[in-house]
Amino acid sequence: MKLISYTQGPGPRCGLALSETVGIDLLSADPSLPGNWHALLPNLERVHEIHLQFKDQLGDVEKARLQGSDLALPFLDLNKVELLSPIILPSKIIAVGLNYRDHAEEQNKTLPERPLLFSKASSCLQIPGGPIALPPECAQVDAEAELAVVIGKAGRAIAREDALQHIAGYTCFNDISDREAQYSDRQFFRGKSMDTSGPCGPWIVTPDELPNFATGLNITCHWNNTLMQTSNTDQLIFPVDELIAYISRTISLLPGDIISTGTPGGVGVFRDPKVFLKPGDTITVEIQGLGKLSNPVVAWEG
Ligand code: ZN
Repeated sequence: MKLISYTQGPGPRCGLALSETVGIDLLSADPSLPGNWHALLPNLERVHEIHLQFKDQLGDVEKARLQGSDLALPFLDLNKVELLSPIILPSKIIAVGLNYRDHAEEQNKTLPERPLLFSKASSCLQIPGGPIALPPECAQVDAEAELAVVIGKAGRAIAREDALQHIAGYTCFNDISDREAQYSDRQFFRGKSMDTSGPCGPWIVTPDELPNFATGLNITCHWNNTLMQTSNTDQLIFPVDELIAYISRTISLLPGDIISTGTPGGVGVFRDPKVFLKPGDTITVEIQGLGKLSNPVVAWEG
């Protein structure tokens, strides 16, 4: 099941993607549901029922769409709505540094003994297809393809073997990083939190559609047509269940919280010569089973 946030006018709405082109509006399917994912994620049972109720009609609906008919609610033509970041304003975005073996190697760093956590401001989230806007003072902006976990059920001190019960699903994340700020500040917050530096989406894929803890998935990052990063989530030093256990020892995880699990090798700053984003580029993160997250790079205006 693929969970989306979308808009077609005022305000964000919750939905499901049945395919790349056809979706379901959840409140039209069941008006008694809460209208935001923070309230829905802790218990997706009813949402699963709605998915089962409508998914078999996909073939007929797709045919009608191709014949030019307007789809009747609860069905949505995903080409006619704007997909948003699947989670809007999470209580926190926790990111993990140095969590791929190949990324640690390219920096000649020994493997960390415990996860290195940092945070990104929730306001940095950007929608699928939305611009990554480079402020004039940021000349060294880089991209990082990452697997992100979205928390469903709140928890504190979650045991590793219970981690799955707290996961709503997985999505693609691009941890856009201003290297100048990241290194000169000697901590990550400013360099990782610039507006538009958190492209996320296009949807949250529930765990039942993926291998256990999303291991063994190919992950790539293309800058235009150039393959910059290619790896697999089995390269994660600290896998998803271990991250959830480690973080929640001291930090409560809340519904909608995003944990971005770190990036593989190949980022721009460790290349020789270094390369950074420039207006006109398009950056595409793709993860097997999760789809593609593509965002153009533009110069900041205003
Ligand atoms: Zn990162």
